[in-house]
Amino acid sequence: MSHVRRPSAVLPRPNWGWQDAAACRNEEVILFFGPDGERQPEREIRERKAKAVCASCPVRLDCLNYALSRPEKYGAWGGLNEDERATERRRRMRRVSAA
Ligand code: SF4
Repeated sequence: MSHVRRPSAVLPRPNWGWQDAAACRNEEVILFFGPDGERQPEREIRERKAKAVCASCPVRLDCLNYALSRPEKYGAWGGLNEDERATERRRRMRRVSAA
């Protein structure tokens, strides 16, 4: 019996190798995602701390590109929060459309 390859409906498995060099490797996940019910002032403080970790991260661009290529709705990735990633996603789409 022959084996027929069917196109996969799932997204390709990401390469997580870049995470080995992540500056956040030993940080608490809650620093990047925040607790349920977090209020805005606490959120701003937490995000500032998370972004400070991202600022020195050697794989920041890999992380950001990964988050932008996926429906990552929550958390700080690549030094950007949810709203900032949405803005960056739109900026990149405009750039591609204009090319
Ligand atoms: S950019 Fe930030 S969230 Fe992404 S791997 Fe680096 S430290 Fe972690």
